[in-house]
Order: sequence, then structure tokens, then C-alpha cells
Amino acid sequence: MICFNKPAHTARTTEYIADVFREAHASGDGKYTRLCHQYFKDMLKCRQALLVHSGTAALEMAAMLAELKPGDEVIMPSYTFCSTANAFVLQGAVPVFVDIREDTLNIDENKIEAAITDKTRAIVPVHYAGVACEMDTIKDIARRHNLLVIEDAAQAFDSFYKGKPLGCIGDMGCFSFHETKNIMSGEGGLFVTDNEELAERAEIVREKGTNRSKFFRGQVDKYTWVDKGSSYLPSDIVGAYLYSVLEIADNIQNRRKKIWEKYYLAFAEAEQSGKVRRPIIPNECTNNAHMFYLLCRSLEERSAFIARLRENGIYAPFHYIPLHSSPAGKKFCRTASPMTVTDKVSDCLVRLPLFYDLSAEQQDYVIEKSIEFWKE
Ligand SMILES: *Cc1c(COP(=O)(O)O)cnc(C)c1O
Repeated sequence: MICFNKPAHTARTTEYIADVFREAHASGDGKYTRLCHQYFKDMLKCRQALLVHSGTAALEMAAMLAELKPGDEVIMPSYTFCSTANAFVLQGAVPVFVDIREDTLNIDENKIEAAITDKTRAIVPVHYAGVACEMDTIKDIARRHNLLVIEDAAQAFDSFYKGKPLGCIGDMGCFSFHETKNIMSGEGGLFVTDNEELAERAEIVREKGTNRSKFFRGQVDKYTWVDKGSSYLPSDIVGAYLYSVLEIADNIQNRRKKIWEKYYLAFAEAEQSGKVRRPIIPNECTNNAHMFYLLCRSLEERSAFIARLRENGIYAPFHYIPLHSSPAGKKFCRTASPMTVTDKVSDCLVRLPLFYDLSAEQQDYVIEKSIEFWKE
């Protein structure tokens, strides 16, 4: 049985978690959370990096900070996880869907401008599979129309666009450390911004609308309720798990990239014979090996492929049901253009097992069973 994903951890994970109790500080913003904050500020070279409960929580913070009014519109792809849209729906805004590109499966930057109305406030590029959206074009559109750019960088740890780390190219960025992502803390996420005003307000939104972060730094002598917010900071136990995984981030990334490359080469022939398509990574983007997917020719072929792997004990899932065809998407969102590529990809994409602990033998077996299927 080869599962699709297995969360990484190290000997230090339990050691650090035990240390949280020795520190007698298990709530938010303890020693390990602060170590994680420093790690990300150094890595991303941004003003603010705040651990939160999940990628979903980071998106909700961004939506709150965007100060949207009911009916305001936010442009995003439909081919994404529901949290991308849900965060904005919670603020009364309307997600407006734009189709994706055939190559990267990211939002089609050339279709964004036609979707802009006088109610549009933000663009939310999702860096699918950790491969960057066309950020120069997106930022240029945002600048000309005075829109915020909020990056859904949930899958984009350690990935770059023209040398710039993803998550810090727009006004705000949201990462996920869910156990299916490259770096994980079970559940977890990160909110980042390099904007001075947003950096200050983000601390308040994350701490129940209080200025407690300033109080802890000794910048005010008492703390109080100053704005709208919620509770987005995780226990330091989550920080301890995350920090232990960040310490082996290089190993994780090297291993994931090796696995990815091996899959990529293994399916060259299947691609040449026109049966599948492999991921495409534009020159200006890096590959963080978040995901290895294949695009089959049809829904029928994909279903048969997944069933065959399953018979052989291999779990290979597909995603996403496009948000525009989900019940909540129909209720709360609007579609700006035909969703041709989105619908096609949703029918044809399949993901292969890719995680730190996947052994060479296991991967060989996945490849063998897959190739067998595509040879028939
Ligand atoms: C994983 C993911 C999220 C949500 O992250 P959670 O940590 O599970 O809340 C949001 N957007 C995208 C694109 C994701 O892949």
C-alpha cells in the first residue's frame, strides 16, 4: 500500500514539543513561534511574517485587512482550494473567477483585465503546484486599477519568480503548513507582508483586535481592544513542530526535487506518445517540487488510471472540483469568462504520491504500474 502523503517529522520534533512545556509557555508567540518568524523574515526578506493556524486563516487575515465592503469583487481562479474564495465570502465580497492558463494551470493574466469592474478591489493569484503566476503582468494591472494583490502561496514554499520569493511579490502572501505541503506542522500557516501599514494592522487582526503584540514588546504600557480581529495565532507546540521541520527544509526540498525529476523523466515516453502531459515550468519560474501531476486525455482515462493504481495499492488522487461548479461557488461567486481550461483540467489531472519519506522502491513501483497502464 503506497499512500499519497505522509507528514515529515524528526527526532527533534518531540524534543522541541517537550521543551515547550519546560518553557512553561504553550500559548501563542512563544520561543518556537518567534524562531519561525525570524526564519521566514530572513528567507522572504519581508517586514512581517506571522504564524497562523492554517493557510485558510492567513487568507482570512488578508481578506480582513483588505477592508472590503459587501459586494466588492475579488478576482481569482476557480481551479483552487475553496479557502481561496471562502475567506473573501466571509467579508461579504464576491469572488470573480477567471480561467487558467493551459501550461502552468495558473490564472490567465491576459483574461484578468476584462473581469475588472468598478467594484473590483483585489486580485488573488494562486501559485498552483508552487509554480509562479505571471506576477509582473498581474502587478502592472493591479497598479493601473488600484487593486491589492494577495498571493495564495499555500503551495509555494521555497519557490521563486524572476529570483523573487513567492508570497512577498504582492501586497500580502498566505502560506500553508498543512501536512500535505512541503513544510508542515500538521495544520498551520503563515501570513506575510512587506507593507508597513499592513504589517502593523496584521498583528492586531491576529490578536483578537488587540494591540497585545505591542504590549509584549514594551511599546505600550497596557493592551486593549483597538480594531476588528480574531484569534489566528497557534499554540507554540505548532511552532515547535514547524521549527523542527524547517531545520531539515533543505533535505526535504532536495528529496522532493529528486522524486519529481524521476517522475518527470519516467513519463517522457507517455507524453511523446500523446497519452499524458507532464507539468510545464516557464523559464522565469522555479519548481519547488510541491506536486507531480499528469494530465490525462479524458475523464474516462483518468478514472481508469486511478482505478488501476488503486488495484495495485497505490493511492493517486485528483482535484479540484472547480469552485464555479461547487454549490457554494454558485451561490456566492461569479464567473467572468468561459471556464474551458479549468473544466478540462479538473477532469483530466491526477496527482502521484510525493512526500519526503517516499522510498526509491516505492516510487519505482508507482512508475512501473503507471507505465504499464499507459503502454496498453
Ligand atoms: C492547502 C491550500 C490552502 C489551505 O491551506 P490550509 O492550511 O489547509 O488551510 C489554500 N489554498 C491553496 C491553493 C492550498 O493548496
